[in-house]
Amino acid sequence: MAEKRDYYEVLEVARTATADEIKLAYRKAAMKWHPDRWVDGTDAEKKTAEEKFKEASEAYSVLSDPDKKARYDQYGFQGVDTGAGPDFSGGFGNLEDLLRDLFGGSFGGFGGFGGFGGFGSGNTSSGRTQTRVYKGRDIRTRVRLTLEEIATGVEKDITIERNRPCPDCGGRGTKNASDIKTCPNCKGSGQVSHVTNSLFGRTMTYSTCTQCGGEGRIVTNPCRSCGGTGLVRRRETVKVKIPAGVEDGMQLTIRGEGHAAPHNGTNGDLLVIIEEISHPNLKRSGNNLFYNAMISVTDAILGTEIAVPCLDGTYKAKVEPGTQSGAVIKLRNKGLPSVSGYGSGTGDMYVKIIVWIPKKLSREEKDALEKMRTSRSFTPDPSRDDKAVFDKFKDIY
Ligand SMILES: [Zn+2]
Ligand SMILES: [Zn+2]
Repeated sequence: MAEKRDYYEVLEVARTATADEIKLAYRKAAMKWHPDRWVDGTDAEKKTAEEKFKEASEAYSVLSDPDKKARYDQYGFQGVDTGAGPDFSGGFGNLEDLLRDLFGGSFGGFGGFGGFGGFGSGNTSSGRTQTRVYKGRDIRTRVRLTLEEIATGVEKDITIERNRPCPDCGGRGTKNASDIKTCPNCKGSGQVSHVTNSLFGRTMTYSTCTQCGGEGRIVTNPCRSCGGTGLVRRRETVKVKIPAGVEDGMQLTIRGEGHAAPHNGTNGDLLVIIEEISHPNLKRSGNNLFYNAMISVTDAILGTEIAVPCLDGTYKAKVEPGTQSGAVIKLRNKGLPSVSGYGSGTGDMYVKIIVWIPKKLSREEKDALEKMRTSRSFTPDPSRDDKAVFDKFKDIY
C-alpha cells in the first residue's frame, strides 16, 4: 500500500481516544465495511469495502494493543511493521479473535471471507474445516541490560522452561499412527456447527467439539512419556541477539522459540521484554544521555576542561571562561544509537554544568573574596549570551 493512512485517521478518533472509544470506532467501521454486508454490491463497491475493512482491522489490531499503540505513537508505522530482522511487533495477532470479541460468536459464520493472510500468523484465514494448525503458546520473559550493553547491542543467554515435542512418540502422542482415530462426533474438524440468527442475517456458528475437546482426533493408546500430549517439558537456553538502542519496556519477538504446539504444530514465540538497569551517573531520555558535571567557582570563571564518562569511554569537554551554573554542553553523537530503522540516528550527550559553592573558607580566601565583592566584574549583569544559555537550559529540563 503506497499511501498508508494514519491509524487514528482510519478509525476517525483523536490521538487521545480511550480504549473504549477506539473499540467503538472500530465496531462502527467493521459494521459498515464488513464484506458480508456488500455481497450484493458492484465489484468496485466490494473491493472498496474489503480494503476499508482491512484498513480498519489493521488500525484496530495496533491501537487496541497497548504495547503496539505505544510504539505506533512513538515511531509510526515503522514501530509496528513486521519485517526482516528484529521484529518488535509480534504480528498483527488474530483478527478473527478480535472480531469475535466485537461481534460475539456470530463471527464464526463468515466462512467465505478469507484474505487475512497478509497480516501475519493467519493460520485460520481460509475456512474452518481445513486441517487445524496448532500454535504453541508464547513465553514471556525479561532481560536486564546495562546502558553499556544497550549502547553496543549484546547477545544474552536466556534460560526458559518450555514444551518440546516428545522424543519417544515424535510428538504424535502415541507410538503407533494407527492408534490415532478421527473423532466421530465432529469428523475431525474439532468443531460442531449451529445455525443462528444474528446481526448479518442467518449465520452458522461453531463451538468446540466436546468429545475430542477440539482436537479432532482421539488417541486410543497414549504414549507413556508424555501421557498422549505429544509434549515434554524442557529447561533450555536460547541465545538472543539484542540490537543496540533498545529501551526499557520494549518487547522483542523471537519467532518459534516459545512452547512447541501439540501435534507438531507451529511453535509459539519467545517474547523478551527489555528492562534497563539504571546507570549510576547517566540519565537517559530516548537516545539522549544526560550527565551532571560539578566544577569549582574558579574553573567556571577561568574556564577548564572536564572529563565526561560516556558509554564508549571518557571524553574531554571544554568549559569556556565565564560559564554559568546550569549551562549545558552538548557532545554530539555520544548518546545511544537508535534501534535499526527507527528514529533519527545516534543521540547526543548533554552535560549540565553545576558550579559548586564552597561553604568553609580560610581567612585568606575570605579576605581575597571580600576585595572582589564590590568589584564591577562580580556584579550580576546577564548579557544576551548568558540569557540564551538559560533559555536553552530551560528547554532541556
Ligand atoms: Zn510421547
Ligand atoms: Zn470431535
